[in-house]
Amino acid sequence: MTLHRAVRCDTDGCLALFVVPPQLGPDAAVYAARRAGWNVTTSGITARCPACRAGTPVLERGDCPYCCGRTHHISGGERCEYCGHVESYPDDDGAELVDDVEDQEQHEHGQDDVEQLLAAARAEGGVRP
Ligand SMILES: [Zn+2]
Ligand SMILES: [Zn+2]
Repeated sequence: MTLHRAVRCDTDGCLALFVVPPQLGPDAAVYAARRAGWNVTTSGITARCPACRAGTPVLERGDCPYCCGRTHHISGGERCEYCGHVESYPDDDGAELVDDVEDQEQHEHGQDDVEQLLAAARAEGGVRP
């Protein structure tokens, strides 16, 4: 049996939720929520989610780890449409720049002295039978 604690946003109509990892104590939970952008009182009684702080209360639940708001797929991750948090995919982006380097070889054209050979003897032979 696992106990899940969560910090809930106090704004009316806001569905934001910060799920506290079960291994965290109360103090660590408040600290973690604050790191996620929540405005949490030390008592943990009242809280304001990062989405409301940005002016956009969470109206639809999603996969945002910060406010449980709905996320949009962007290149390389998921972006929360409420608090704006971007959760990057763990995959490596694998972008490698490939440079095509072509070595330019200089071909030396040696000029061979053309010896003009004179065909001296041109003997017109007899008519072969
Ligand atoms: Zn909120
Ligand atoms: Zn969010």
